[in-house]
Amino acid sequence: MIPPDETALPPAGTDTVAQGHIVIVDDDPRVRTALCQTLADRGYHTQGFPSGAEALSALCWTDVDVLLCDLMMPEMDGITLLRTVLEIAPDLVGIIMTGQGSIPTAVAAMQVGAFDYVLKPVTLSALLPVLSRAMTVRRLQAECQWAAEALRRREEHFRALIEHALDIVAILNEDGTFRYLSPAITQVLGYPPAELLGTPDEALIHPDDLTGLWDARTHFLRTPGATITVEYRALHKDGSFRTLEVIGNNLLHNPAMAGIVINARDISERKEAERLKDDMVSVVSHELRTPLTSLRGFAELLLTRELPPDKQRQFLTIIHDETVRLTHLINDFLDLQRMQAGRQTYHLACTDLGALLRDTVAVFTSEAGPHVIRIETAATLPPVHADGERLRQVLANLLSNAIKFSPHGGAVTVGARLDGAQVLVWVADQGLGIPPEALPKLFSKFFRVEHHETRHIGGTGLGLALVKEIIEAHHGAIWVESVLGKGSTFFFTVPVAATAAPSLRAHGV
Ligand code: ADP
Repeated sequence: MIPPDETALPPAGTDTVAQGHIVIVDDDPRVRTALCQTLADRGYHTQGFPSGAEALSALCWTDVDVLLCDLMMPEMDGITLLRTVLEIAPDLVGIIMTGQGSIPTAVAAMQVGAFDYVLKPVTLSALLPVLSRAMTVRRLQAECQWAAEALRRREEHFRALIEHALDIVAILNEDGTFRYLSPAITQVLGYPPAELLGTPDEALIHPDDLTGLWDARTHFLRTPGATITVEYRALHKDGSFRTLEVIGNNLLHNPAMAGIVINARDISERKEAERLKDDMVSVVSHELRTPLTSLRGFAELLLTRELPPDKQRQFLTIIHDETVRLTHLINDFLDLQRMQAGRQTYHLACTDLGALLRDTVAVFTSEAGPHVIRIETAATLPPVHADGERLRQVLANLLSNAIKFSPHGGAVTVGARLDGAQVLVWVADQGLGIPPEALPKLFSKFFRVEHHETRHIGGTGLGLALVKEIIEAHHGAIWVESVLGKGSTFFFTVPVAATAAPSLRAHGV
């Protein structure tokens, strides 16, 4: 391979970067050397090659600004060279040197992507303005690329911001259909964004909430630049509803956006907490006020009237019972608060579950009225690892519910048997039963089934929440099976005491 002509260094003080990198390909060594030298003297970084093949194999082209090549060359002509180079470096500026007679071919060269041509013999007065324009084009290209890159980065930055936001960002068209949805929609409502594009947002809004939105929405849509803050229940893909707080910004008039920009936040948990707090205030105030009113009324009667002894006794009995009920309510409420805050200490020990069941049932048998309470436990029950007092509280709550919610009497059965490393306990009744839709909420604080038959049955909706807290603190599980009108069975498990387990297993229990 013939080495490329001398890479001429520019005279001192000339800025090569500013002037650019020119590759000269000409099979005539005199032309090539003269061009390399003259342009180098003017501050360009030049490299000369006698043929296209050598230039192609010697260079990687990406940092070349201009290819100045002869049109007519043996082996590879200027057009073929330029076409090949432009495939490697599409932004390179190609200038063809051509004789007077080959102007049509030079025009053909421009059709394959040459920037311009200069006539041979090449004069500086003809070449320098063309080179100067070529360098301007290169500079503009570089600036455009830089600007495009800066724009791309900015866009990437904002896209990442939106796509990682926990709030949903959406753009709606004027007709209310989704044009863009950020990925948070999947976390909040379960849909992949693409599934909702083109569908109207109303399709997701709970019908009861939609009617309330109409007036505000109509005004909002008519007012350019208006913002709106609304709350509504939105349909999750699984069929449930999540409460969203939605801020809309009407940018329909803004040519860059031409849409409604929406920011939506899932506030379901906050709403649930608020609802619980409201329930708590209303239940506590109602449940405290009712017994207090009757206490005060009967106490006033006793103080202000001369009553016969049997009446006095009757009123004092009512006062006593109401006081007991109030004490229960307050204790349950405080117990639950303490447990849910993780401040309850459990005295876990080896506990005789069989004895505990019998004792608790005995207490209830004396109060059971028309109910028959039966015990059906295995002949020998292993001791369990439990806090006896808390377990008694669980059984008492379940038994009292079984009796309370069987107003027409019937059998109440308490049973227990070994089940692996657990003891399974159940309390079954033949009472009112529980509607299936109430089952998922049954163990929630303050939940009570709304039914005309249970309305007059006293209670706070705290008992089962307490029971669940206690069982779960014992690493056990609690669940219920119920048939409306036929009865309910509550099951729970407690772990067998560690020391007892091996010997019991050895006895085949
Ligand atoms: P309370 O009994 O004070 O209302 P609970 O938390 O113990 O509160 O029970 C919550 C609700 O579950 C009750 O109000 C009742 O509607 C329902 N429930 C509980 N136990 C039974 C049962 N054995 N039979 C039918 N319904 C029951």
